[in-house]
Amino acid sequence: MKIPFNKPYLTGKELQYIEEAVSLGKISGNGEFSNRCQRFFEVRYGFQKCLLTTSCTDALEMAALLFNIKSGDEVIMPSYTFVSTANAFVLRGAKVVFVDSKADHPNMDERLIEELITPKTKAIVVVHYAGQACEMDVIMDIANRHGLFVIEDAAQAIDSYYKGKALGSIGHLGTMSFHETKNIQCGEGGMLMINDPELIKRAEIIWEKGTDRAAFFRGEVDKYGWVDLGSSFLPSEVTAAFLWAQLENLDQIQTRRKSIWEDYYALFNEDSAKIKLLNASYCKQMKNEGEVPIFNFKFQNFKFIANAHLFYLLFPDLDSRTEYAKNLKEHGILAVFHYQSLHRSAFAQKHFPDQYRRELPNSDRYSDCLLRLPLFYELPELSTQL
Ligand SMILES: *Cc1c(COP(=O)(O)O)cnc(C)c1O
Repeated sequence: MKIPFNKPYLTGKELQYIEEAVSLGKISGNGEFSNRCQRFFEVRYGFQKCLLTTSCTDALEMAALLFNIKSGDEVIMPSYTFVSTANAFVLRGAKVVFVDSKADHPNMDERLIEELITPKTKAIVVVHYAGQACEMDVIMDIANRHGLFVIEDAAQAIDSYYKGKALGSIGHLGTMSFHETKNIQCGEGGMLMINDPELIKRAEIIWEKGTDRAAFFRGEVDKYGWVDLGSSFLPSEVTAAFLWAQLENLDQIQTRRKSIWEDYYALFNEDSAKIKLLNASYCKQMKNEGEVPIFNFKFQNFKFIANAHLFYLLFPDLDSRTEYAKNLKEHGILAVFHYQSLHRSAFAQKHFPDQYRRELPNSDRYSDCLLRLPLFYELPELSTQL
């Protein structure tokens, strides 16, 4: 038996709902299941308006269109993030300006943002790494003082909060991912959350290929046509039906993931022996196959479970991480590293040489030293078969 890094979870209702969607006779987007999913998020998390997209990448591209990002604009974002966070804005001609991570967390260091703002700065993109919140009060204050848009890349942050507010509900816009590696998944999928009411109407138009089709179907206009820029950002009802089966089980999925996270925490926290869901022999291997000098460092200060999207360890250097991952692999357990700093990428070297030359030591450290352990719904069952 092998333990993969991730195994997408199926609740068992996916095919039934897909069949229902098909029998409803309308399987293009913006139908019954899409609306059900969007309402679910609006009601549960207080997002003003949600629009399902085919990916979080698409939702980020919609955000760049909505903010009228154009050549010469600058957009501030962490270097330690997924390429889509940057691509969405670079596609519109923007220059990306990278912020270093915090010394004690991969999230962007909010204290370093203000010095990067120039007259060309248009927006700040925050990324809630591992579903853990960035310092949103500080970031919103900076944005408001400088008249900047804020978009929360909440791809990993479903069901996470900052001071009682759902992540993705605080910036002007938020984006979510339902890629199969995320807590709630539909293979490929995402969502744009629009919190600034003034952006809602245009978001719908961009979503529907630059037409006022959504307003037409509500009976607000008597014909629809080309009124703005746009693209095909909405997923089909087949995807939305799959997603609905997952959302119905959100609480159950989250409870299980948090329990696994707690078990990992207990495992790497010397004094506790609480190993209830994970199989004991699996846990022993996690611990014994290589020395782990530094654990999920967050818990040295306080326990931060967030939404149990990831559980990671931080090693002192690249060699010790490589060694530990190799040991685990030899025992059938796949642990993986995460982002490579974007400012050090081949793309940045070519297109943003000034960013390439910057020193962002914390971001580089997470690139070299962070290791993610398997965390998925069926991990406890699988680990009994090791
Ligand atoms: C997963 C992820 C994305 C991309 O999501 P897709 O739905 O695959 O496009 C973007 N940003 C972050 C931070 C992510 O973790």
